[in-house]
Amino acid sequence: MSATVILGLGSLLAVPSAYAESLQDMKDKKVMIQEKRTDVQSNILETETKIKNLQSQQLTVEEQLDQLEKNMTVNANKIIEKTAEINKTNAEIESLKAEIVVLKDRIAKRNELLKERAVSYQEGGGNLNYLEVLLGASSFSEFIDRVSAVATIVEADQDIIKQHEQDKKSLEEAQSAVEKKKLDLEKMLAELEKVKQQLQVQKNQQEVLLAELHKQKEHAEHDIVGFEEEAANLKAQETAVAQAIQLEQKRLADAEAARKKAAAEAAAVAAAKKKQASISSSSSSSSSSSSSNATVSAPAVSSGTFNRPSAGYVSSGFGGRWGKSHNGIDIAASGTVPVVATADGVVIRAYTSSSYGNVVMISHSINGQTFTSVYAHLNSMSVSAGQVVSKGQQVGYMGNTGHSYGQHLHFELHKGAWNAAKSNAVNPLNYLSM
Ligand SMILES: [Zn+2]
Repeated sequence: MSATVILGLGSLLAVPSAYAESLQDMKDKKVMIQEKRTDVQSNILETETKIKNLQSQQLTVEEQLDQLEKNMTVNANKIIEKTAEINKTNAEIESLKAEIVVLKDRIAKRNELLKERAVSYQEGGGNLNYLEVLLGASSFSEFIDRVSAVATIVEADQDIIKQHEQDKKSLEEAQSAVEKKKLDLEKMLAELEKVKQQLQVQKNQQEVLLAELHKQKEHAEHDIVGFEEEAANLKAQETAVAQAIQLEQKRLADAEAARKKAAAEAAAVAAAKKKQASISSSSSSSSSSSSSNATVSAPAVSSGTFNRPSAGYVSSGFGGRWGKSHNGIDIAASGTVPVVATADGVVIRAYTSSSYGNVVMISHSINGQTFTSVYAHLNSMSVSAGQVVSKGQQVGYMGNTGHSYGQHLHFELHKGAWNAAKSNAVNPLNYLSM
C-alpha cells in the first residue's frame, strides 16, 4: 500500500509545473477579474444611490427657492405699500407746512392791524404806546378810564392773538405727529429693505447650492457611464479567461489521462512482482485496504498551535526524494478518514485541481505570522472559500483524487503564502506531532 502511495506522489511531482502554474495564474486572474467586477458593480450601485440623494436634495432646494421667491414677492408688495404711505405722508407734511406759513402770515398781518388800531386810539397823544397812554393821564380818574379802555382793546387784541397762536400750535402739533408717522414708516421701510436683502442673500446661497448639486449629479452620471464601460470590459475579459481555462484544463486532463494510464500499467507490473515475492502478506494487506470501510475518528484536538490533520501514519516525509523535493508529508490510512484544519483560520480555496485533486487551502495568522496549510487528494470537501474554521474542524475526507494512487492525505504547511514554486513550504513535523 505504501508503495502505491509513493508512486502516486511521484506522479504528482512529475506534473510539469509550468502547466499547473499557468492554469493557476489564469484561475487567479479570473478570480481577480470577478472581484474587480463586483467592486465596479457596487460602485455603480453606490453612485446610483448618490444620484438619487442628489436629486432629492435638489428637489428640496428648489422647493425652498420657490418659498423664498414667494416671500420676496410679499416683501416687495409691502415695500410698495409703505413707500406709497410715505409719499402720502410727505404730501400731508407739505400741506401742513403751507398752512402754517399762511397762518403765520395772517398773524403777522393782524399784529400790524392791531398796532395801527393802537396808534389810531392814541391819535390825540401823538406817537405813544399803551404805557405812554396810561402814564399820560392827567388825573387819576382819567388814568382809570384810560386803563380800562386800553385793557378792553388789549384784551380783544389778545384774544385774536391767542386764537392765532393756538391755531399755529395745533398745526405744528399736527405737523410733528405726521413727521413722527413718517419716521415710523421709514423705519418699517428700512426693515423691509433689510428683509429683502436677507431674502436675496438666502436666494443666492440656495442658487449656489442648487448649481453645486447639479454639478455633483452630472459628475456622478458621468462616473456611472465610466463604471458601466469598465464592467463591460471586465465581463469580456472574464469570458476570455474562462475559455482559456477550459482549453488548458482539457489539455491537462488529456496529458494526465495518458500519464495515469502509463503509471497504472507500471503499478500493475510492480504489484504482480510483489505478489510473487510474498503472497500471504500482500493478500492480507490488500484485503485490509480494499474491504475496510470503517469510519476512523478525527484526531483529537491538541493543545499545541497546530493539530495533526488526520489519523494515519506518515507514509512519506518532507524533503528531497528522487532528486525532487516533496513539499509536504503524506499521511495514509484506510477507511473513511476525516481530515481536519490544523489550526484556526480562513479557507482561502476549496477546489478541484488536476494535480492536487480536491484540495482545501487555509490561511492562518499565528502571532502575526501567516501560515498556509494545504489538504490534497481529498475524497470530498466540507468547507468553501471564505469560511472561517477552527482547529480540529473537519474540512473533508481523505481520498485518492488528482495525481494520487492509493488513499492518502498530502499535507503541506507554508510559512507565508502558498505559491507555485512552494518556496515557503516547511516541514509540518517541525510544527505538529503525528
Ligand atoms: Zn505528498
